[in-house]
Amino acid sequence: MYARYGCVCFAVPKRLIKHLAEHEDDAKHRDKLLGQVRHSAKLRGRRTTATLAGAATQPSTKPLQRSVFDAQGLTFLPGKLLRDEDDPPTRDKVADQAYENIGVALQFFSTLFKRDSIDNKGMRVDATVHYGYSFVNAMWTGEQMIIGDGDGKTVTALAGSLGIIAHEFCHGVSQHLVPGGLGVVNRPRMPPVLKGEAGALNESFSDVFASMIKQWHAKEDVTQADWLLGDDILKPKAGKAIRSLKDPGNQKLTYGADDQIKDYKRYKATDESHKASGIANHAFYLAATRLGGHSWETLGPVWFKGFDKLRARSTFLDAAHATLSVAAALHGQGSKTHDAVKAAWKKVNVLA
Ligand SMILES: [Zn+2]
Repeated sequence: MYARYGCVCFAVPKRLIKHLAEHEDDAKHRDKLLGQVRHSAKLRGRRTTATLAGAATQPSTKPLQRSVFDAQGLTFLPGKLLRDEDDPPTRDKVADQAYENIGVALQFFSTLFKRDSIDNKGMRVDATVHYGYSFVNAMWTGEQMIIGDGDGKTVTALAGSLGIIAHEFCHGVSQHLVPGGLGVVNRPRMPPVLKGEAGALNESFSDVFASMIKQWHAKEDVTQADWLLGDDILKPKAGKAIRSLKDPGNQKLTYGADDQIKDYKRYKATDESHKASGIANHAFYLAATRLGGHSWETLGPVWFKGFDKLRARSTFLDAAHATLSVAAALHGQGSKTHDAVKAAWKKVNVLA
């Protein structure tokens, strides 16, 4: 069954699109970007599309279940079916990239966590490509993925980015992991939003697991990984990446208006969820690099099982305690893993 809330997340933060618009010389293009910020706000309120609701909840008998649709530049969902599971590649590069990248995310969770798709019940993962005209974003609506083509000027087609597709995929996973949605606040006659520490943890779950999926796919150890997300969608004039887990808020690694924080002492309750997610992102990075090797092998299960214990209004301290208790259960109190997790949450000032 679907969670009750609709879309709450976009891959490209509003802050970055506004930043791009402010630095855009072409007035027409600037208006287009600002228009997309407004359109995105409307999309957050989307509700179930009846045509998809029944089909996607059926338990899967196959290891992977993907369907890629084409919105043909419009905003009707899901659009025309382009490629179903086991279909041969289409002539549409973007559709095939979406299909492949969703497949990597599905296989990651299936192989490492024995998780059967987003809901652990084999739900078919639907994605709509060519959404809107030059849409510079991708998102998880609560039911399916929407992927824009980018404007080609500042943001390239988002389907080709494994990190972006995995990030959105993971919003679906956490939606089904935490009843009510981690940090999701429903508002009367308004779209739901991610708020507070739990909202930041929601964004962080997507960043951390997307980063792990990238590393797993490239077979990179913690020293080989770049710990960036969205490093493959921005044109040089827009920036280098959307986020860095290694050094959140370092604009030299990301983009000019990046305001992510990595220290809980700087956290304010009004902080936007993409801003405060840097705290937990960095904690994962610190623990992973202290442990060495592959991030998904030892630390991945600790983080996954830890976040599985969280509730809709959990705090950073709850996440620290949850991951610590899993580390102790799996590896023992005072084990190398337990110590690494503790040191990481201390370094970001969540634990005293
Ligand atoms: Zn997100």
